Amino acid sequence: MNGTRVAVLGAGIVGAACARELALAGLEVTVVDRGGAASATTSHGEGNVLVSDKGPGPELELAQLSRTLWPQVLAGVAERSVAAAHAVEWEPKGGIVVATTDAGADGLTRFAADQRAVGVRADVLDAEALAEAEPYATREHTAALHYPEDAQVQPAGAAAALLGDALAAGATLRTGCEVLGAVTRSGRITGVRTSAGPLEADWFVNAAGPWSGELSARLGAPVDVRPRRGDVLVTAPLPPMVFHKVYDADYVGAVGSSAGDLQTSAVVESTRGGSVLIGSSRRRVGFDDRLRPEVLSAVAAKALRLFPTLAGAAVMRAYGGFRPYVPDHLPVIGADPRLDGLWHAGGHEGAGIGLSVGTGRLLRNLMLGEPTDLDANPFRVDRPAVLGTTARSVSEESP
Ligand SMILES: Cc1cc2nc3c(=O)[nH]c(=O)nc-3n(C[C@H](O)[C@H](O)[C@H](O)COP(=O)(O)OP(=O)(O)OC[C@H]3O[C@@H](n4cnc5c(N)ncnc54)[C@H](O)[C@@H]3O)c2cc1C
Repeated sequence: MNGTRVAVLGAGIVGAACARELALAGLEVTVVDRGGAASATTSHGEGNVLVSDKGPGPELELAQLSRTLWPQVLAGVAERSVAAAHAVEWEPKGGIVVATTDAGADGLTRFAADQRAVGVRADVLDAEALAEAEPYATREHTAALHYPEDAQVQPAGAAAALLGDALAAGATLRTGCEVLGAVTRSGRITGVRTSAGPLEADWFVNAAGPWSGELSARLGAPVDVRPRRGDVLVTAPLPPMVFHKVYDADYVGAVGSSAGDLQTSAVVESTRGGSVLIGSSRRRVGFDDRLRPEVLSAVAAKALRLFPTLAGAAVMRAYGGFRPYVPDHLPVIGADPRLDGLWHAGGHEGAGIGLSVGTGRLLRNLMLGEPTDLDANPFRVDRPAVLGTTARSVSEESP
């Protein structure tokens, strides 16, 4: 495929992972972004690399592939640059899910049984084991499970590392370059018009995250990817008190829910710098980026149920971002059947950091006609949930 030109539209972590795979495969890759690399959703989320929150199905398969790939990818990054690998802050620290009600315990136990059947490790923690693993977690729990495969990265550092590999393999990056529309010939996209002039290529990858719907509409082949707001509280650095990614059993329900109104659950994790990240919320409010005190209060209240000792912690800041949401909760990865030469890699909602490396590998396999590690069919572009009307859905969700 040497000489094949690919333009990756979007330099978030998904675009970076795709660019890395394609550049290492020998393609001529150009990455364009209207902002800076990793400046949008990728730098507005947390960095969990999770299998624990996914039930059996295609998304879990992509998560398992990604979990296998992360250490391999990072070993490759470290060969190029130890500093870049260090900045990823890879921590395979495992996750712990805690239920605080009887109903929550039942749901969690059933969910874990289904996961074990497809190869996920989920170990029951009794009260003593939970106290040993997380001494500051609530004693008022009804069930707890340890997922040793869960891990964490620093999202912007991870995206920079992936992009760095792509650039080292010959890719080029154009920032401050907004894609405005497509140039087509006989039903094929041959170029894009950008704020910095035209860009020709053989293939184009829509990796515009929550703006994938808007960008695809500009290109004439709309996909229904919408923003789903999430907010995170960041504490001032604390002495070590959270040792895994710890979340309440309600989180899985919030992830899988399609409700537009506010969903909150407690997701608590420490970072290398000592700050504790406290999430998470889900709201469909278009691209309204105002922080809402009532959302932050609800998130904090749930976190205190899990970690009562956080009551004395100072909150240093809060931030939010827009998860790229597809109504059927699955990413869109593959060729667009309506416009030859256009591919999509997006719609990962709250899991795009973790799923990025698997997405890059799958896209490369599909583009180059290679065997895939998993069935790509569930991610195809021509599913009803993806071919909805983006313009309608975005305006419906405007505040
Ligand atoms: C609060 C919160 C917490 C989260 N926590 C986690 C987590 O713990 N684990 C996890 O895996 N995921 C998490 N996520 C989700 C994750 O952040 C996203 O799924 C992921 O960042 C999406 O990456 P992306 O590359 O698709 O999108 P983005 O990072 O948004 O990148 C898209 C890029 O496209 C560019 N772009 C858009 N339109 C154009 C255009 N017309 N022309 C040129 N460029 C354009 C943008 O500037 C942007 O840089 C969280 C998200 C939020 C909001």
